[in-house]
Amino acid sequence: MEKKEMLYEGKAKQIFASDNEDQLIVHFKDDATAFDGQKKGQIAQKGIINNKISNFFFKLLEEKGIKTHLIKELNERDSLVKKVDIIPLEVVMRNIAAGSIAKRLGLEEGTKLPAPVLEFYYKNDDLGDPLINRSHIEVLELADEEELRILAEMAEEINKILFDFLKNQGIDLVDFKLEFGKNKDGEIILADEISPDTCRFWDSETQQKLDKDRFRRDLGDVEAAYHEMLKRITGQESL
Ligand code: ADP
Ligand code: UDP
Repeated sequence: MEKKEMLYEGKAKQIFASDNEDQLIVHFKDDATAFDGQKKGQIAQKGIINNKISNFFFKLLEEKGIKTHLIKELNERDSLVKKVDIIPLEVVMRNIAAGSIAKRLGLEEGTKLPAPVLEFYYKNDDLGDPLINRSHIEVLELADEEELRILAEMAEEINKILFDFLKNQGIDLVDFKLEFGKNKDGEIILADEISPDTCRFWDSETQQKLDKDRFRRDLGDVEAAYHEMLKRITGQESL
Protein backbone atom coordinates (compact mmCIF):
# COMPACT_ATOMS: atom_id res chain seq x y z
CA MET A 1 0.00 0.00 0.00
CA GLU A 2 1.57 3.24 -1.18
CA LYS A 3 1.21 6.72 0.35
CA LYS A 4 -0.24 9.16 -2.17
CA GLU A 5 -0.85 12.89 -1.63
CA MET A 6 -1.07 14.34 1.86
CA LEU A 7 -4.70 15.32 2.42
CA TYR A 8 -4.36 16.88 5.84
CA GLU A 9 -1.71 17.77 8.36
CA GLY A 10 -2.90 18.01 11.95
CA LYS A 11 -1.08 18.67 15.17
CA ALA A 12 -0.09 15.05 15.84
CA LYS A 13 -0.71 13.19 12.58
CA GLN A 14 -0.65 13.47 8.81
CA ILE A 15 -3.33 11.89 6.66
CA PHE A 16 -2.45 10.53 3.22
CA ALA A 17 -4.54 9.17 0.38
CA SER A 18 -3.86 5.52 -0.54
CA ASP A 19 -4.35 3.32 -3.63
CA ASN A 20 -7.92 2.74 -2.47
CA GLU A 21 -10.33 5.70 -2.31
CA ASP A 22 -12.07 4.27 0.77
CA GLN A 23 -8.82 3.91 2.71
CA LEU A 24 -6.36 6.41 4.21
CA ILE A 25 -2.85 6.17 5.60
CA VAL A 26 -2.36 7.81 9.00
CA HIS A 27 1.19 8.89 9.84
CA PHE A 28 1.97 9.51 13.53
CA LYS A 29 4.37 12.41 14.22
CA ASP A 30 6.50 13.24 17.27
CA ASP A 31 5.01 16.77 17.40
CA ALA A 32 3.16 17.65 20.56
CA THR A 33 0.94 20.65 21.24
CA ALA A 34 -1.10 21.78 24.21
CA PHE A 35 -3.41 24.64 25.19
CA ASP A 36 -4.94 25.05 21.70
CA GLY A 37 -1.54 24.92 20.04
CA GLN A 38 0.01 27.68 22.19
CA LYS A 39 2.57 25.24 23.61
CA LYS A 40 4.53 23.32 20.98
CA GLY A 41 7.22 20.70 21.27
CA GLN A 42 8.42 17.26 20.29
CA ILE A 43 8.33 14.02 22.22
CA ALA A 44 10.99 11.67 20.84
CA GLN A 45 9.50 8.45 19.39
CA LYS A 46 5.96 9.46 20.40
CA GLY A 47 4.67 8.76 16.89
CA ILE A 48 5.98 5.19 16.96
CA ILE A 49 4.61 4.54 20.46
CA ASN A 50 1.18 6.10 19.78
CA ASN A 51 0.79 4.12 16.54
CA LYS A 52 1.52 0.88 18.43
CA ILE A 53 -0.61 1.69 21.48
CA SER A 54 -3.56 2.95 19.46
CA ASN A 55 -3.51 -0.12 17.20
CA PHE A 56 -3.27 -2.41 20.22
CA PHE A 57 -6.35 -0.78 21.77
CA PHE A 58 -8.28 -0.76 18.49
CA LYS A 59 -7.59 -4.51 18.03
CA LEU A 60 -8.67 -5.19 21.62
CA LEU A 61 -11.89 -3.22 21.03
CA GLU A 62 -12.55 -5.03 17.72
CA GLU A 63 -12.20 -8.36 19.56
CA LYS A 64 -14.89 -7.14 21.97
CA GLY A 65 -17.26 -6.15 19.15
CA ILE A 66 -16.51 -2.42 18.74
CA LYS A 67 -16.13 -1.39 15.09
CA THR A 68 -13.06 0.76 14.43
CA HIS A 69 -11.36 2.34 11.41
CA LEU A 70 -8.21 0.20 11.76
CA ILE A 71 -7.32 -2.03 8.82
CA LYS A 72 -3.66 -2.75 9.56
CA GLU A 73 -0.35 -1.36 10.79
CA LEU A 74 1.88 -0.68 7.76
CA ASN A 75 5.13 0.24 9.54
CA GLU A 76 6.24 1.80 12.82
CA ARG A 77 4.60 5.19 12.17
CA ASP A 78 1.94 4.44 9.53
CA SER A 79 -1.41 2.64 9.67
CA LEU A 80 -4.01 1.90 7.02
CA VAL A 81 -7.52 2.92 8.08
CA LYS A 82 -11.03 3.12 6.67
CA LYS A 83 -11.81 6.62 5.50
CA VAL A 84 -14.70 8.13 7.45
CA ASP A 85 -16.56 11.43 7.63
CA ILE A 86 -15.51 12.53 11.08
CA ILE A 87 -18.37 13.62 13.33
CA PRO A 88 -16.99 16.95 14.63
CA LEU A 89 -17.32 15.99 18.29
CA GLU A 90 -14.68 15.09 20.86
CA VAL A 91 -16.37 12.48 23.00
CA VAL A 92 -14.78 12.51 26.46
CA MET A 93 -15.35 9.88 29.16
CA ARG A 94 -14.15 10.47 32.70
CA ASN A 95 -13.76 8.09 35.66
CA ILE A 96 -11.72 10.37 37.93
CA ALA A 97 -11.80 14.18 38.02
CA ALA A 98 -8.79 15.81 36.35
CA GLY A 99 -8.03 18.65 33.95
CA SER A 100 -10.90 20.78 32.75
CA ILE A 101 -13.69 19.11 34.77
CA ALA A 102 -11.74 19.64 38.00
CA LYS A 103 -11.39 23.35 37.17
CA ARG A 104 -14.93 23.83 35.84
CA LEU A 105 -16.74 22.11 38.70
CA GLY A 106 -14.29 22.88 41.50
CA LEU A 107 -13.43 19.23 42.11
CA GLU A 108 -10.09 18.20 43.51
CA GLU A 109 -7.98 16.37 40.92
CA GLY A 110 -8.07 12.68 41.75
CA THR A 111 -11.66 12.66 43.05
CA LYS A 112 -13.27 9.39 41.97
CA LEU A 113 -16.50 10.15 40.12
CA PRO A 114 -19.49 8.11 41.41
CA ALA A 115 -20.28 7.07 37.81
CA PRO A 116 -18.49 7.68 34.50
CA VAL A 117 -19.14 11.16 33.12
CA LEU A 118 -19.72 11.62 29.39
CA GLU A 119 -19.00 14.98 27.76
CA PHE A 120 -19.13 16.31 24.22
CA TYR A 121 -16.84 19.05 22.90
CA TYR A 122 -17.39 20.74 19.54
CA LYS A 123 -14.32 19.89 17.42
CA ASN A 124 -13.66 23.38 16.11
CA ASP A 125 -10.17 24.92 16.49
CA ASP A 126 -11.42 28.49 15.81
CA LEU A 127 -13.77 28.22 18.79
CA GLY A 128 -11.24 26.37 21.00
CA ASP A 129 -13.25 23.11 21.09
CA PRO A 130 -16.02 24.29 23.49
CA LEU A 131 -17.99 21.95 25.77
CA ILE A 132 -21.47 21.53 24.30
CA ASN A 133 -24.65 19.72 25.29
CA ARG A 134 -27.07 17.49 23.37
CA SER A 135 -29.35 20.42 22.48
CA HIS A 136 -26.42 22.35 21.02
CA ILE A 137 -25.40 19.27 19.02
CA GLU A 138 -28.89 18.90 17.57
CA VAL A 139 -29.23 22.62 16.78
CA LEU A 140 -25.84 22.62 15.02
CA GLU A 141 -26.88 19.35 13.30
CA LEU A 142 -23.60 17.68 14.30
CA ALA A 143 -25.47 14.46 15.16
CA ASP A 144 -29.11 13.48 15.59
CA GLU A 145 -30.71 11.82 18.62
CA GLU A 146 -30.14 8.26 17.38
CA GLU A 147 -26.50 8.97 16.50
CA LEU A 148 -25.96 10.51 19.95
CA ARG A 149 -27.43 7.38 21.51
CA ILE A 150 -24.95 5.24 19.54
CA LEU A 151 -22.00 7.50 20.46
CA ALA A 152 -22.87 7.36 24.15
CA GLU A 153 -23.35 3.59 24.08
CA MET A 154 -20.06 2.99 22.25
CA ALA A 155 -18.15 5.39 24.54
CA GLU A 156 -19.51 3.64 27.65
CA GLU A 157 -18.62 0.20 26.30
CA ILE A 158 -15.12 1.35 25.29
CA ASN A 159 -14.63 2.81 28.77
CA LYS A 160 -15.54 -0.52 30.40
CA ILE A 161 -13.17 -2.50 28.16
CA LEU A 162 -10.20 -0.15 28.51
CA PHE A 163 -10.76 0.47 32.24
CA ASP A 164 -10.69 -3.25 33.06
CA PHE A 165 -7.76 -3.99 30.75
CA LEU A 166 -5.67 -1.14 32.19
CA LYS A 167 -6.56 -1.95 35.81
CA ASN A 168 -4.92 -5.36 35.24
CA GLN A 169 -1.76 -3.56 34.07
CA GLY A 170 -1.72 -1.40 37.22
CA ILE A 171 -3.06 1.71 35.49
CA ASP A 172 -6.05 3.88 36.43
CA LEU A 173 -7.87 5.14 33.34
CA VAL A 174 -8.70 8.68 34.50
CA ASP A 175 -10.27 10.02 31.30
CA PHE A 176 -9.95 9.90 27.52
CA LYS A 177 -11.14 11.44 24.26
CA LEU A 178 -12.67 9.57 21.34
CA GLU A 179 -13.56 10.56 17.78
CA PHE A 180 -16.10 8.76 15.66
CA GLY A 181 -16.93 8.90 11.97
CA LYS A 182 -19.30 7.47 9.42
CA ASN A 183 -17.96 4.92 6.95
CA LYS A 184 -19.11 4.64 3.34
CA ASP A 185 -22.17 2.66 4.44
CA GLY A 186 -23.16 5.42 6.89
CA GLU A 187 -22.25 3.28 9.88
CA ILE A 188 -20.68 4.96 12.94
CA ILE A 189 -17.25 3.55 13.77
CA LEU A 190 -14.43 4.55 16.12
CA ALA A 191 -11.71 6.60 14.38
CA ASP A 192 -8.63 8.73 15.17
CA GLU A 193 -6.47 7.32 18.00
CA ILE A 194 -6.38 6.17 21.63
CA SER A 195 -2.97 6.89 23.12
CA PRO A 196 -1.16 8.72 25.94
CA ASP A 197 -1.87 11.90 23.90
CA THR A 198 -5.62 11.42 24.25
CA CYS A 199 -5.98 9.67 27.63
CA ARG A 200 -4.95 10.27 31.21
CA PHE A 201 -3.18 7.23 32.66
CA TRP A 202 -2.16 7.17 36.35
CA ASP A 203 -0.14 4.41 37.99
CA SER A 204 -2.60 2.70 40.36
CA GLU A 205 -0.03 2.42 43.19
CA THR A 206 1.92 5.67 42.99
CA GLN A 207 -0.62 7.85 41.10
CA GLN A 208 2.28 8.88 38.84
CA LYS A 209 1.05 10.50 35.62
CA LEU A 210 2.01 8.44 32.56
CA ASP A 211 0.51 10.55 29.75
CA LYS A 212 0.65 13.86 27.91
CA ASP A 213 0.07 15.82 31.13
CA ARG A 214 3.82 15.35 31.70
CA PHE A 215 4.35 17.53 28.60
CA ARG A 216 1.42 19.92 29.22
CA ARG A 217 2.47 20.59 32.81
CA ASP A 218 6.28 20.41 32.38
CA LEU A 219 6.57 17.48 34.77
CA GLY A 220 9.69 15.99 33.09
CA ASP A 221 10.35 12.36 32.07
CA VAL A 222 7.86 12.71 29.20
CA GLU A 223 9.49 10.13 26.90
CA ALA A 224 9.92 7.68 29.80
CA ALA A 225 6.17 7.88 30.51
CA TYR A 226 5.28 7.01 26.90
CA HIS A 227 7.74 4.08 26.96
CA GLU A 228 6.32 2.87 30.27
CA MET A 229 2.78 2.91 28.83
CA LEU A 230 3.95 0.98 25.76
CA LYS A 231 5.39 -1.66 28.12
CA ARG A 232 2.33 -1.82 30.39
CA ILE A 233 -0.09 -2.07 27.46
CA THR A 234 1.71 -4.23 24.90
CA GLY A 235 4.43 -5.86 27.02
CA GLN A 236 7.06 -4.44 24.65
CA GLU A 237 10.13 -3.42 26.71
CA SER A 238 11.80 -1.18 24.12
CA LEU A 239 11.45 -0.01 20.52
P1 ADP B 1 -5.92 17.64 14.80
O1 ADP B 1 -6.75 17.71 13.56
O2 ADP B 1 -6.74 17.82 16.03
O3 ADP B 1 -4.72 18.51 14.79
P2 ADP B 1 -4.43 15.14 14.29
O4 ADP B 1 -3.08 15.72 14.08
O5 ADP B 1 -4.55 13.91 15.12
O6 ADP B 1 -5.47 16.13 14.96
O7 ADP B 1 -5.03 14.89 12.84
C1 ADP B 1 -5.70 13.76 12.46
C2 ADP B 1 -6.99 14.16 11.79
O8 ADP B 1 -7.50 13.05 11.06
C3 ADP B 1 -8.05 14.58 12.79
O9 ADP B 1 -8.68 15.77 12.33
C4 ADP B 1 -9.03 13.40 12.79
O10 ADP B 1 -10.36 13.82 13.05
C5 ADP B 1 -8.88 12.86 11.38
N1 ADP B 1 -9.15 11.41 11.24
C6 ADP B 1 -8.84 10.43 12.11
N2 ADP B 1 -9.21 9.22 11.66
C7 ADP B 1 -9.80 9.44 10.45
C8 ADP B 1 -10.42 8.57 9.46
N3 ADP B 1 -10.49 7.26 9.64
N4 ADP B 1 -10.93 9.17 8.35
C9 ADP B 1 -10.87 10.51 8.18
N5 ADP B 1 -10.28 11.36 9.05
C10 ADP B 1 -9.76 10.84 10.17
N1 UDP C 1 -8.23 15.48 25.15
C1 UDP C 1 -7.75 15.24 23.89
N2 UDP C 1 -7.78 16.23 22.97
C2 UDP C 1 -8.26 17.47 23.24
C3 UDP C 1 -8.78 17.71 24.54
C4 UDP C 1 -8.73 16.71 25.48
O1 UDP C 1 -7.31 14.13 23.59
O2 UDP C 1 -8.29 18.33 22.33
C5 UDP C 1 -8.22 14.41 26.17
C6 UDP C 1 -7.21 14.68 27.28
O3 UDP C 1 -5.98 14.05 26.99
C7 UDP C 1 -7.87 14.04 28.48
C8 UDP C 1 -9.37 14.15 28.19
O4 UDP C 1 -9.49 14.37 26.78
O5 UDP C 1 -7.54 12.65 28.52
C9 UDP C 1 -10.06 15.26 28.94
O6 UDP C 1 -9.37 16.46 28.74
P1 UDP C 1 -9.76 17.79 29.53
O7 UDP C 1 -11.12 18.22 29.11
O8 UDP C 1 -9.55 17.60 30.98
O9 UDP C 1 -8.82 18.89 28.94
P2 UDP C 1 -7.38 19.44 29.32
O10 UDP C 1 -7.22 19.45 30.79
O11 UDP C 1 -6.44 18.54 28.61
O12 UDP C 1 -7.43 20.81 28.73
